[in-house]
Amino acid sequence: MGGYIMQLQNFSVNDGEGIRTVIFMAGCPLSCAWCSNPEGQTQNNPLVHWVETEEVVKKIHSQAIFYRFSGGGVTFSGGEATSQPQFLKELTDIFYDDGYNLAIETCGVFNFDLLEPTLKKMNLIFMDLKHIDPEKHKLFTGIDNSLILENIIKTSKLGVEMVVRVPVIIGVNGDDHTIKSIFEFLKENAPNVKIELLPYHKFGEEKYIELEMELPDKNFEIPDAQQMKHWREMAMGEGLQIVSYL
Ligand code: SF4
Repeated sequence: MGGYIMQLQNFSVNDGEGIRTVIFMAGCPLSCAWCSNPEGQTQNNPLVHWVETEEVVKKIHSQAIFYRFSGGGVTFSGGEATSQPQFLKELTDIFYDDGYNLAIETCGVFNFDLLEPTLKKMNLIFMDLKHIDPEKHKLFTGIDNSLILENIIKTSKLGVEMVVRVPVIIGVNGDDHTIKSIFEFLKENAPNVKIELLPYHKFGEEKYIELEMELPDKNFEIPDAQQMKHWREMAMGEGLQIVSYL
């Protein structure tokens, strides 16, 4: 068994507790207009390659000392980690038995019943919520958000620590009405999750050029520190718990 990945990134500190290795798995059901990892959207491009499971396991085992000393472990990311469910399950089962701290970053588009046993083995689940309005979600990512909202609710009941990540982008969701609607949805439907607001960044443009893809919409703007502070305070005012792994 094996799967398609972009890379393994050691010494990562923004994707869970401690020092971690992030496994960037290829393939994604979304096509976000601001995506900074366009090479992760498909499994068929020059920046993606096939790896055998054994090879990944060997590389992860070589980092074990860093996980032990820092409380870190392995984070499955992408692209979309759940887009290769068998590969994800196989790696998760092995690393869970090894006793590693496990985290996953997901866009929320997955078959919950299929993924549930794998998600239950995680120590931390990051799930994105990019827009609360179904039409706008479709406009900016290619599909509406009905499955994502459903999966946020179901996953929040698994008993695993969960962080809903909102990439904040002026021109997409960076306005009081949209941010407040996201908070209200979470407060009502998944009150135990934590929230991480991530300001949009414009990294990754060179990858679009390399892959001969159209560059992201230049009208998207980065929120400033004052705006981010305002929305974090708004969340706390709603009784929601804000976290940051940056
Ligand atoms: S979910 Fe992530 S990897 Fe997939 S298209 Fe959106 S930003 Fe890119």
